[in-house]
Amino acid sequence: MNIITSAKEMQSLVSEIRTSGKSIGFVPTMGYLHEGHQKLLNEARSHHDIVVLSIFVNPLQFGPNEDFDRYPRDIERDEKIAKEAGVDYIFYPTVQEMYPNDMSVKVMVTDRTDVLCGKSRPGHFDGVATVLTKLFHIVMPHKAYFGLKDAQQVAVVEGLVRDFNFPLEIVPVETVREEDGLAKSSRNVYLSEKERFEAKELYQSLLKGKELIENGEHNPAKVMEAVRKHIQEHTSGEIDYVEIYSYPELKKLEELKGKIILAIAVKFTKARLIDNVIINV
Ligand code: AMP
Repeated sequence: MNIITSAKEMQSLVSEIRTSGKSIGFVPTMGYLHEGHQKLLNEARSHHDIVVLSIFVNPLQFGPNEDFDRYPRDIERDEKIAKEAGVDYIFYPTVQEMYPNDMSVKVMVTDRTDVLCGKSRPGHFDGVATVLTKLFHIVMPHKAYFGLKDAQQVAVVEGLVRDFNFPLEIVPVETVREEDGLAKSSRNVYLSEKERFEAKELYQSLLKGKELIENGEHNPAKVMEAVRKHIQEHTSGEIDYVEIYSYPELKKLEELKGKIILAIAVKFTKARLIDNVIINV
């Protein structure tokens, strides 16, 4: 396994790999790897000759009052996990390498960002789309693997790839959870012991909503209210949103039908956690 910090060097490596007829699977991350990332790496490993993992905490996707500075980082631990997962190359650039001072273009996402995390985190998805545009050009993968824990991100990135004709395929991967149901996240380390205990209720609230829908409740307001109530009764977290939309369009629904997403974001003292379930009604 090699660690590459230069975009030019990465590009020349992947050009050679592509010329030799090998396929490249790509897993973009912000590091501090956990089993969620590992699942994406395993998927990539089982479908490609070469697996590239990128580790880059992208300042463009963090708002001014968010956790860019204190986002957890541990490259040595990540290297070990990546090696065990059979990664061939880690692309690990500095902020200066990705965003030299003279940059003059950013990507702006114009659809699906007025809801959920796009609404709570203005500019977040522009930052995601900008960094991925760069990473896709640097890594030139045949397929890129993304977790459905960030389902809005998957929808936005599919739009980016389609609208800008990137010659690659996006592969969505199911959310990996702790034994008690909490979605694995690099930010879980910021939960206090009490909050970690409560945090399992986030997934329970989603399951409650799902069950209501499966038992015939088609009124989104009623489902959202039940989910909200469960979170309020079982956690000390502050609800950022509990919402239901069509998926992947992310349009408001008067009545639940088709493929929908029930998504939540809850702020604990030092961590804002998100989770969702996608349901075929
Ligand atoms: P991050 O490092 O948080 O930016 O995540 C990198 C990739 O891993 C994204 O595609 C995430 O959706 C995915 N991911 C994060 N947590 C999970 C999880 N619990 N299960 C599956 N994929 C995940």
